[in-house]
Formats: sequence, C-alpha cells, structure tokens
Amino acid sequence: MSKKVIVIGSGPGGYPAALRLKELGAEVAIAEAWDFGGTCLNRGCIPSKAFLDTGHRVHAFEGLRKLLKDGSGVNFSADMLDWTKVKARRAEVITKLRVSLEKLFQVKKIEVLRGRAAFSGPGEVTITGPQGEIKRQFDAAILAAGTRPSFPPVFRDFQEQLTDSDRVFDLPQRPESVIIVGAGVIGLEFACFFNAMGVKVDVLEILTDILPGEDPQVTRAVRSSFEKRGIKFHFSRKAAGIEIAGGAKTVILEDGSKLAADEILVGAGRAADLAGLGLDGLGITWDRRGVVVNEFMQTCLPHIYAVGDVNGLSLLAHSASRQGEIAAENIMGARHTFDAGLVPRCVYSWPEVGSVGLNKAQADAQGLAVKTSRAYFLGIGKAVATDETEGFVQLVFDAGDDTVLGAQIVGGPATELIHVLALAVKLQLKRSDLKGIIYAHPTMAEAIHEALNK
Ligand SMILES: Cc1cc2nc3c(=O)[nH]c(=O)nc-3n(C[C@H](O)[C@H](O)[C@H](O)COP(=O)(O)OP(=O)(O)OC[C@H]3O[C@@H](n4cnc5c(N)ncnc54)[C@H](O)[C@@H]3O)c2cc1C
Repeated sequence: MSKKVIVIGSGPGGYPAALRLKELGAEVAIAEAWDFGGTCLNRGCIPSKAFLDTGHRVHAFEGLRKLLKDGSGVNFSADMLDWTKVKARRAEVITKLRVSLEKLFQVKKIEVLRGRAAFSGPGEVTITGPQGEIKRQFDAAILAAGTRPSFPPVFRDFQEQLTDSDRVFDLPQRPESVIIVGAGVIGLEFACFFNAMGVKVDVLEILTDILPGEDPQVTRAVRSSFEKRGIKFHFSRKAAGIEIAGGAKTVILEDGSKLAADEILVGAGRAADLAGLGLDGLGITWDRRGVVVNEFMQTCLPHIYAVGDVNGLSLLAHSASRQGEIAAENIMGARHTFDAGLVPRCVYSWPEVGSVGLNKAQADAQGLAVKTSRAYFLGIGKAVATDETEGFVQLVFDAGDDTVLGAQIVGGPATELIHVLALAVKLQLKRSDLKGIIYAHPTMAEAIHEALNK
C-alpha cells in the first residue's frame, strides 16, 4: 500500500514536495488556505520581479536618452506610466503561472484540498474550507505554511494605515513619496522599483548597513549606486512613533526628528503564523524563528516535517523548494539533509547582487585562512559595450589549497552568474579548475576569469 502524505501549503516549499512525493509513489493531498503558489507566486518573488522589470525598463530608457535625436523624448518620465496597467501586468503574470500550477496538480493526480488545515491528531488533519470540514488521515505530513509580514511594535497599531510587502502591490495609486522600513532584500528591491518610478524614497534601517551579513564590499557598492540615484538611507535610526494626518504619514525617530511620506512600507521581517495549526495539541515545538526541525526537516514528531519559511532556516523560495524535496525523499526512505551553505543569496535590484558560500568575514569567524580576488566589470569588454560597468566579481579561496569557498557578485547578471560559482563551491573546485573553463568573449562571465587571474 502506498504511503498517504498530506502537504499543508502550496508555496515553493509545499508544491515541489507534493510533486516529488507523487513521483516516488506516495498518495498525496495538498491543502491550501489562500492562493496556489504561496507568497512567492502571489505576493513575493514573482510580482516583485514583474514590478522591478517595469522599473528596469524605465531605467534602461534613461540610459538610451543620450542617443536620442535632440529634442525627442525629452518629455518622457516615469510618471507617464499608468499605475493601473503596471499592476495589471503583474496580475497577468501571476494568473498565468497559477493556472499552470493548478493544471500540474490535476495532471499529476495530486488531490487538492481548499481550506485551512490543522492537525487534529498525530495522524489526522482537518481542513476547513468552502466544502465545510473534511478530515484526512496521513502516514506522514509536510507543513509548508510559510510566513506573513511582521510589524515591529511601533508600527503595529497602525498596520491598517501603513502598507507591507503583501499590500504594496495593490496600492490604488503610485505614491509621490515612500518611507521603506528595513534595508534587507525586500526593502532594497522596493526602494529600487519606486525610485525608478519617480517616487521619492527614504529607507529607514535600525542597523548600520544594508543587507545584514553581506560582504562590506558588496553593501558599499550597492549603497553607493542607490544613493547616486537619489535613494536616501537613514542608518542606525529607530522609529519611536507614527503620526497620520491628512495625506501624510510621519515616522517620529528616537532623536525627535521626523520623516514624512505618502506611504510607509514596512518590510522589516516576516514571521510564521502558527496559531490554529494544532501544533500545541501534538507537542510540536517552535521557537522565535519558527517550527524547530532537525537536519532531515523533521519536527519533534518524526513523521511530521516542516519546510520553507515556516521553519525559519532560510527565508528564500529556492531553500523552501530544496527542503520540500528533501522532506519528500526522506518520507519515502532517504536520509537527505539541507546544506544552507550552498544557497545562492540574490538581490534583483540594479545593480544585481548574487552571493554564495562564505565571504571573508564569515570565513574569518570560522577561523579559516582565506584570500580574496576581485575583478571589476569596468575592465570587461561586454560590460563597457553594454554600459553595465558597475560592480565586480569577488572570489574567496582557501589560502592553503585554493579551493573556492565563496563568491560575491555585484552588477551585470549577478543573479545568473552566481550559479557557476555555486557549482564550484558545491564540488569544492580549485582556482585551477575554474581557470580550465574557456570563457566566451565577449561575456560578463569574463569577470570571473579576470578574478581568477588576480
Ligand atoms: C516581496 C517579496 C519578494 C520576495 N522575493 C524573493 C525572491 O526574489 N527570491 C526568493 O528566493 N525569495 C523571495 N521571497 C521569499 C519567498 O517568497 C519565500 O521564501 C517563499 O515563498 C517561502 O515559501 P514557503 O512555501 O515556505 O511559504 P509560502 O510561499 O508563504 O507558502 C505558504 C502557503 O501556505 C498556505 N497556508 C498557510 N497556512 C495554511 C493552513 N493552515 N492550511 C492551508 N494552507 C496554509 C499559505 O496560504 C501559503 O500559500 C520574497 C518574499 C517577499 C515577501
């Protein structure tokens, strides 16, 4: 008899798990309380990239301005864009992808259960939805319930009047100005988009820099590029209060100074919403980050797994997918583990950022002796020809045997190039191995070759 498995949540953690389980011969049902595809497809990765693509086209047009005939195009500005159409384009993209996902479930014969699922026993889930209350027995379950935007205490009482990464996609009109709270990936991507759309952007950050944990060379390059375009950062600044009057929303800072804008977008973190999942009843444990799992993605009940954002190990879609597949394979008898060291970390702004493995500070903290080499896109023919000279490729090597331990890329197609270096880290390649590749000319990948020769 095949194993009965229930997956809770159809985001990038849940749906690859369901597909893999089916492939391996399990009887699979997937429960979804909201929209198929989860945060990633509906309110995260995909809609934000559709918005960023619009912003990038505006940015690219600005680059073309110097080639226009005198007097033509001088009137073009981002506020000529129709905000309703910008939003409609993102909705179109989401619908297309969501429909194909739903079809995939159908084709693969995965049972779809619409509604909110909760554990009602160690081998039973109750789903409450449009069809009423239904119960399903399981041999194993995967919890992939994701996270929701979280509001720091000062902002909490004003949640309805402020916006967050879920609701920003539905703003009725393009604001003239926005304060973005948080200079992590989500904050930076929205800062980049709104700036390209002609919106005045202030970014408020309690820490001293953008992208916590990222290499200082990377953060310096990104910060300086954003600042040149007029995005203003306010570091080491803590909000003490909010005032909302008329059309203006004001953040009062601890030193008494104020920042006002049409919109305040709180992008300062996400948290798992574990209420109502029935975890207490089963004794499943969680902490500040989310549901506690071991390296095999098992909760303290070995037949119940938790993957993706809900376990808080790595709040990225591709981490969720890998963990989902690992949980599926482990349910079917494997003993696979998740290696967080191989997860590419990307920012889809311009300049783009892609990092993998260790940076120098992380290597130092682990007591590893490393050397770094860096090549700037400024010296690369393709970069000069395409006017994309911002940024660099930086490689981190073991100082002893030249094994590639990590890489950081700013600029160019950093989010694509990083995969070559992810492979190098995974296979523990040496500098000489990467030098053995022939790099096509002219490409941005030649910056990797240059960095190897430094
Ligand atoms: C603006 C933004 C941009 C982002 N961009 C990127 C990016 O470019 N790259 C990247 O890697 N990551 C990005 N992320 C992060 C990425 O979206 C998440 O890491 C990813 O969605 C996590 O996947 P998940 O499956 O764990 O959870 P989710 O995608 O959140 O899916 C969880 C699903 O479970 C459902 N659910 C919850 N509780 C229940 C229940 N009780 N019963 C039934 N269903 C339930 C929810 O409705 C949801 O559909 C972004 C996030 C945001 C907010």
